[in-house]
Amino acid sequence: MAPRVVVIGAGIGGMTTAALLARRGYGVRVFDQAIVPGGCASTFRRRGFTFDVGATQVAGLEPGGIHHRIFAELGIEPPAATPCDPACAVYLPGESEPIRVWRDPQRWQQERQRQFPGSEPFWQLLKDLFDASWAFQGRDPVLPPRSAWDVWQLVQAVRLGTLVTLPHTFSTVGQVLRWYGLGHDRRLRRFLDLQLKLYSQVDAEETALLYAATALAVSQSPQGLFHLQGSMQALSDRLVESLERDGGTLQMRHTVEAIATEKGRAVGVQVRDQKTGKVWTEPADHVVANVTVQNLVNLLGDVAPAGYRRRVDKLPDGSGAFVVYLGVTQAAIPADCPPHLQFLYDFDGPIAENNSLFVSVSHPGDGRAPDGCATVIASSFTDPRIWQGDDDRYAMLKQRYTETAIARLGQYFHLTPDTILHTEAATPRTFAHFTGRDRGIVGGIGQRVSTFGPFGFANRTPIAHLWLVGDSTHPGEGTAGVSYSAWTVARQIEAVE
Ligand SMILES: Cc1cc2nc3c(=O)[nH]c(=O)nc-3n(C[C@H](O)[C@H](O)[C@H](O)COP(=O)(O)OP(=O)(O)OC[C@H]3O[C@@H](n4cnc5c(N)ncnc54)[C@H](O)[C@@H]3O)c2cc1C
Repeated sequence: MAPRVVVIGAGIGGMTTAALLARRGYGVRVFDQAIVPGGCASTFRRRGFTFDVGATQVAGLEPGGIHHRIFAELGIEPPAATPCDPACAVYLPGESEPIRVWRDPQRWQQERQRQFPGSEPFWQLLKDLFDASWAFQGRDPVLPPRSAWDVWQLVQAVRLGTLVTLPHTFSTVGQVLRWYGLGHDRRLRRFLDLQLKLYSQVDAEETALLYAATALAVSQSPQGLFHLQGSMQALSDRLVESLERDGGTLQMRHTVEAIATEKGRAVGVQVRDQKTGKVWTEPADHVVANVTVQNLVNLLGDVAPAGYRRRVDKLPDGSGAFVVYLGVTQAAIPADCPPHLQFLYDFDGPIAENNSLFVSVSHPGDGRAPDGCATVIASSFTDPRIWQGDDDRYAMLKQRYTETAIARLGQYFHLTPDTILHTEAATPRTFAHFTGRDRGIVGGIGQRVSTFGPFGFANRTPIAHLWLVGDSTHPGEGTAGVSYSAWTVARQIEAVE
C-alpha cells in the first residue's frame, strides 16, 4: 500500500506538497479549516469584484523558477500571468516622482544610479551575492540541515562560487550600508526599509544581507514578479486539480485539532468536521503541517519538545497586516498607474501602523473587476496585539484605520463616494479567523541574521515523520518561498521511504 500522508492546511505550501506527493504515488489527504484553499494567497468575491486576500504578485513563474519547475513535474500548465514592469513604483514622502523598480536590469541600474547617487558599489555587492546565492539555491540545498541526508544535499549544492557568500553570513543590510559610507543616505535607507519589510518582515538595519540580496533582485529579468490572470486563486486551483487527478483528496472546513504521536513519531491527526461536528483520528505515515511554527507547537500540545517550544516562544514578535479592499470605478485610477505601488508617509516613523501602504491595482481584462471598474488593495504592517481588545474598541480601530488608509490613498487615486463602490478591511483578527494563523501573524518569522536560512526553523521537526512547510521555514514568505519548502519536504519524505 502507498504510504499515507496527511497535510494540515491547503495554503500554497500545503497544496504544493500534497500535489507533489500524490504525483509521486503517495496516498494524500489534505484538511483545511477554511472555506476555500490558498490561505493567504486565496480570494473572496463581493459585488462582481474578486479580491486577492493577501498575496497579489508571484515570483518563480519564469522558466527554471520554483513554481515553473513544480508545474512541470506535475504536468500541469502554470496559470497565465504577465510580468510586472515596473515591479513596484515607490513614493517617498513629499515626492511626486516614484522610484521605479524596472524589470530590465540595465534600466533598473540607471534608475537607482539616478535616484541614489554613489550607491552603486553597494548594489554591485548585492548582485555578486545574488548570483552566487541563486545558483546555490537552484541546486536544492536543504536549510537548515537536520539529518545526514539533509547535510549531503547541502554539501552537493556548494560550489567554489558559493564561498563568496560565506563572509557575509552574519552581515545585515544596515552594517553594509555603513561600510560603504551610505549609512546617512536617508532616501536610500527608507527605500530599502520599505522594500525589505515587504519580504523580510524587518527593516534594512535588521535584514540579513544574504536574504536581502535575493529579495531585492528577483524583480529583475530573467526572474521577475508576475500578475496572475483571473486572480491569485488560479495558483491553488491548479494544485487542487493536480492533487485530485492523482487520487488525493482535499477536505475544506475540516479543522485539525491535534497531532497524534507515538514514541516520538507522528502517526496521525485529530480532525473535526465543522459541518457535522464529527471528530476522528486520521492515521498517517507522515504528517505535513502547513501552519506557522507557533501553530505547530499548539497542535503538538504536551508532546512538543521543551527545547523546540522555548525556541518558538523566544521568537521576536511577529507582524500582522491591515488590508483595505476597494472596488472602484476606473475613474478612480490615474492614467498609466503601475500594478504595484508603495507609499511612505513620514520619513522618521517606523514602517508600521499606517505609515506605509503597499498597493496592488487590477488592470482592465485581468478578471478581477467588472468592465469599467478596478480593485485597489492596500496593506500596511500592524502590531497584532492592538487588535485584541473588546469588540467595540476593535470596531472603532478598524474604522479609524480604514478611513486613514482611504484618505492617504486619496492623495494618489481619485477616491470619492461616487468612485468607491465597495469597501472592506481585514485585520490580524480577520487573518486569524480565515487562515487559522496564530494571532493573525503573517509573513513568517522574519529574516534577521538569527532566523534566516541556516539559523531558521527546519522542515524536519524534532518529531519523526512530522514535517513543517510554509513561511516559517526556509526560504521564507511568499508563494515561491513556501513552494520551495514544499519541494524540500516532498524530497525528504521520499528519502525516508
Ligand atoms: C497582506 C499580505 C500580502 C502579501 N503579499 C504577497 C505577495 O504579493 N506575493 C507573495 O508571494 N506573497 C505575499 N504574501 C505572503 C504569502 O501570502 C504567504 O507567505 C504565503 O501565501 C503563505 O503560504 P503558506 O502555505 O505558508 O500558509 P497559509 O497561506 O497561511 O496557509 C495555511 C493554511 O492552513 C490552514 N490551516 C491553518 N491551521 C489549520 C488547522 N489547524 N487545521 C486545518 N487547516 C488549517 C489555513 O486555513 C490555510 O489555508 C502576502 C501576505 C499578506 C498577509
